[in-house]
Amino acid sequence: MKVLGIESSCDETGVAVYDTALLGAAGLRAHAVYSQVALHAEYGGVVPELASRDHVRKLLPLVRQTLAEAGLGVDDIDGVAYTAGPGLVGALLVGAGVARSLAWALDVPAVGVHHMEGHLLAPLMEDPDPVHGAPEPPFVALLVSGGHTQLIAVDAIGRYRLLGETLDDAAGEAFDKTAKLMGLPYPGGPQLAALAERGTPGAYRFSRPMTDRPGLDFSFSGLKTQVLLAWRQSDQTDRTRADIARGFEDAVVDTLAIKCERALDTAGSDVIVVSGGVGANRRLRARLQDMAAKRGGRACFPRPALCTDNGAMIAFAGALRLQAGQHDDAAVHVTPRWDMASLPPVAAAAGL
Ligand code: ATP
Ligand code: MG
Ligand code: FE
Repeated sequence: MKVLGIESSCDETGVAVYDTALLGAAGLRAHAVYSQVALHAEYGGVVPELASRDHVRKLLPLVRQTLAEAGLGVDDIDGVAYTAGPGLVGALLVGAGVARSLAWALDVPAVGVHHMEGHLLAPLMEDPDPVHGAPEPPFVALLVSGGHTQLIAVDAIGRYRLLGETLDDAAGEAFDKTAKLMGLPYPGGPQLAALAERGTPGAYRFSRPMTDRPGLDFSFSGLKTQVLLAWRQSDQTDRTRADIARGFEDAVVDTLAIKCERALDTAGSDVIVVSGGVGANRRLRARLQDMAAKRGGRACFPRPALCTDNGAMIAFAGALRLQAGQHDDAAVHVTPRWDMASLPPVAAAAGL
């Protein structure tokens, strides 16, 4: 089954084709992402109306480009998957409108995908580990993106229990805001991470919020304030900026690793699956792999380009649901706020 995936929940237009007849990463026939970052940069954040309009402009050209790269015609598509939420309502409606119209014209089923389920399942789209195979539920998922920081017990594909989440800023949001207050251009998260590579470990030490008490929730907004104070009181040289960036990154990575280990204990698992933009962070990847290996388990990530928003994860998650016989009716319907625990299970996920 060849599934066209469309992502338009925020400021990235993503399109992909996933072919369930091919196993693992080979199933991803083509994928393309157009980022609106430059469009929103001068406003210092995403402007919803501009985002919607840009999705309108970019979506169909991107569909054509992706099909051409996959060597497929539009008639080869057996199903369409689109992000139905959570996200910006106008942006979601653009993707849903195009996806539903295409499906109707081609007379194939369409399914609305939960954006965070897309992120969560992205690591399963990669080639299975030669020794351990693909991660199979039950496992724990860490979702660390621009809008979410969640620990989730995955009992089965489609059956998700929230173990803990951030009470304020998401991890990616904390990276972006911290970068901004040290003068880095929007969106600063990846740049702050690059800067941290050059920083001296231990030159600045910030707290590991909420690790000194039980529970699996997070709070990252206080860290931002600590950085602000340190930055203001410093000589504000490039060297210091890098040292503070390193101190901040170490604090976030440490905090996430401590809570991940605790979540594995709680869930009785040794497998942690990580995704969302912050999952691209090199030090987080190394730290979680190390933590999981020490307990005889493993940490699974998608390649960095599939950690941030993309159409591939939507095509893949949608393919699982379409294969299980799930699809939506012809109405264009989106859900800007959507609890992942309310999703129906995917009964027939095996075989992918
Ligand atoms: P959500 O999925 O919650 O709706 P989103 O889609 O905006 O949010 P993603 O695209 O998954 O989020 O990730 C973007 C976030 O990831 C940004 O906040 C960005 O700063 C952060 N990020 C990307 N690369 C890195 C990195 N290497 N280190 C740290 N943070 C990173
Ligand atoms: Mg984005
Ligand atoms: Fe996302």
